[in-house]
Amino acid sequence: MLFHGSVDETKLSVPCGRMKTVMAKPILVEVSVKHVHLCEADLEILFGETHCLKNRKDLSQPGQYACEERVDVIGPKGVLKNIAVLGPLRPSTQIELSMSDCRIAGINAPIRESGDIAGSAGCKIVGPCGKVEIDEGVIVAKRHIHMTPEDAKELNVENNEIVKVEVQSDIRGTIYGDVVVRVHENFALAMHLDTDEGNAAFGGTVGYIVK
Ligand SMILES: [Zn+2]
Repeated sequence: MLFHGSVDETKLSVPCGRMKTVMAKPILVEVSVKHVHLCEADLEILFGETHCLKNRKDLSQPGQYACEERVDVIGPKGVLKNIAVLGPLRPSTQIELSMSDCRIAGINAPIRESGDIAGSAGCKIVGPCGKVEIDEGVIVAKRHIHMTPEDAKELNVENNEIVKVEVQSDIRGTIYGDVVVRVHENFALAMHLDTDEGNAAFGGTVGYIVK
């Protein structure tokens, strides 16, 4: 589930101090609430054979959507209930939690980029028709910016580059380091934070790459 913020062009002030804006192109900042991506085999166990994911809402990245389906994720210390499933199906099941979610469930998940799940944490997943136990797939998503090759050129950054992003807020302006740039022609320009990270900036919805 993603909360969409609006980009306010009137907030195009250049941050002062020791940092300067690389490019005053605003980046939409979206907060990803804990969620699950399922592979086909796990979908069938959890929701029944022939089950098709039901699109509840399209997300900012083309082709990605939040589903009606929900699951519970169980760790050694607790249960995270009613976690949204995102579509479409993926080759491997992947669960993205914040560090706060991990503490509640007692899951020791590493910070990883989406898709890099080898040796990550395991958990149990419970759906209306069954349960699965995964040995790996639970991660804390590394914060990142999706962008097209055209955006990357304009922002003077490259795929996999690590950048800093200042998120503006009247009350809790925040600079995030270790933000990975992900470039693909099918992406839409947006920075993705988890709920812990988004709360740090008190809901700021516009970011700028700074150096
Ligand atoms: Zn993302």
